[in-house]
Amino acid sequence: MGFCNSCGRPIVKADYGTNADGSLNDEYCKDCFQNGEFTEPDITLEEMITRKTKEMMEKNPRLPENQATGITVGFIPGLKRWCPEEFWDDEF
Ligand SMILES: [Zn+2]
Repeated sequence: MGFCNSCGRPIVKADYGTNADGSLNDEYCKDCFQNGEFTEPDITLEEMITRKTKEMMEKNPRLPENQATGITVGFIPGLKRWCPEEFWDDEF
């Protein structure tokens, strides 16, 4: 099992996004990536973090907001969509 490199949710094969040729893309979920394109190409990193923080708090009503934010802020910016590999090569 992997996770989506855009929104960070865990994905299994049934959740995979699709490439332009219809094949599965195991790096992104189908909510984020369909037919070779992001479903929301204009969403910003901040918007994704806000959305995911909200979702996490809806699933875990007792989770304090600052903790939920701590998790998303620590995780989502490192995903491939927000941190392309070209940059990784420079850093390491
Ligand atoms: Zn996703």
